[in-house]
Amino acid sequence: MNKLSPDYEVLPVYGFVCCSCGHEQAARPSLMMQFGENSGAGTCLACGEFLHLSIDEDAGIMVAEAWDSWLEKEETAVTEA
Ligand SMILES: [Zn+2]
Repeated sequence: MNKLSPDYEVLPVYGFVCCSCGHEQAARPSLMMQFGENSGAGTCLACGEFLHLSIDEDAGIMVAEAWDSWLEKEETAVTEA
């Protein structure tokens, strides 16, 4: 699982764009993110898609991916490790 840099300051709220419908919205970082695990989840307010959320440290934004495609990537990474 991705870790945030120890010196990265988690902001109270991040904007993100739904990967499914393109709706712009904002999300609060999960508790896990505040403890350095760069992984969270949310539901799109517009289309209801279940999304995996992670922080792009460089851009200072939240990145949304469809949960299923994120899970697929995670499972592939675990299998290859
Ligand atoms: Zn959406």
